[in-house]
Amino acid sequence: MKTLQFSNKDKMQCIGLGTWKAKGNKVKQAVKDALYAGYRHIDTAAAYDNETDIGEALAEVFAEGKIFREDVFITSKLWNNAHQDGQVLPALQHSLDKLQLEYLDLYLIHWPVAFKHGVNSPQKPSDYLSLEEVPIIETWKKMEQAKEAGMVRHIGVSNFSDIKLKDLVSKAKIKPEMNQVELHPLLQQDDLLAYCKSEGIFMTAYSPLGSGDRSDAMKGKDEPNLLELETIKKIARKHNASEGQILISWHCHRGTAVIPKSTSTEHIEENFKAARIELDETDIKEIARLDECRRFITGEFFEEHSKGYTDIYDEKSPILEGVREGISKVKSLFSTDE
Ligand code: NAP
Repeated sequence: MKTLQFSNKDKMQCIGLGTWKAKGNKVKQAVKDALYAGYRHIDTAAAYDNETDIGEALAEVFAEGKIFREDVFITSKLWNNAHQDGQVLPALQHSLDKLQLEYLDLYLIHWPVAFKHGVNSPQKPSDYLSLEEVPIIETWKKMEQAKEAGMVRHIGVSNFSDIKLKDLVSKAKIKPEMNQVELHPLLQQDDLLAYCKSEGIFMTAYSPLGSGDRSDAMKGKDEPNLLELETIKKIARKHNASEGQILISWHCHRGTAVIPKSTSTEHIEENFKAARIELDETDIKEIARLDECRRFITGEFFEEHSKGYTDIYDEKSPILEGVREGISKVKSLFSTDE
């Protein structure tokens, strides 16, 4: 299994278990199945409302005495309603208590979006705070404090564009070590990946299988199914693998981590085995051509109720759209086989 190695030599397995939309006994069993199958990387978040279940699974497995706390890389995330001064460390402590842990391996700012304290899911503009009212750097200073206090071993962000990351990097005392974003063949984000690599910031790919179990309200019309893309099917046949395994393996080849979600024992085992697949140059070139800058997690759920958050990913300005279109055209010219 490939790993990402942090500057202090901590290692994170390339393939981790995603847990969004999984709760109760289902997620508890999924975490146990994953650990027994060899996973040593689990992703959760305060907003997933499953930290207590995951904490129980971890405690029960650790008590068996075969897998130890220090063997497992555990990530959680600060929810948008705790960005303000005085809220970050208590929110982190709350996650630690639920997870029954002394420390997290990685703690991320979940979104560059702030809600008023007490608001879980905003319904109206006044539920939000603007980033002028709660600047990211102020939230980040508390993340730095958490790392310095040993509550977390690594800190990072999620859903940050290169514009927001550059701004944070220019102001931070401790550089973000991770940016967790949506990544898959239809949303390859080469420019963001190149920027992160140049700064020594790792990336984790979320929704690598297209997040098909989201509620219908979160889905767009006629969304493509990643698992049914002809190119992916063809590569899967060639490697005698499943489509899901090819989608997962691609991230390991790109040097990012990837956190497919599953509560099915078969999928959990199958996804982990994707680490064994060796994609070749032809596969990589064919997958490169699939990029169409298509998001499944559009961020619209934050944008529709709020006045301030109209371009969460900083990609709607006509100039940027033009630049991205140009890059995509140049890329398609260079990725042909002739
Ligand atoms: P995903 O992993 O792309 O897709 C999950 C869906 O794929 C589930 O329906 C799952 O069903 C199915 N599946 C799993 N393995 C499969 C396989 N081998 N073949 C066919 N189907 C398979 O979706 P996601 O949950 O959106 O993303 C993964 C994780 O990323 C999340 O769980 C979460 O930890 C993280 N995430 C983070 C953010 C963020 O803002 N930072 C946003 C989204 C997601 P079964 O359960 O039945 O297997």
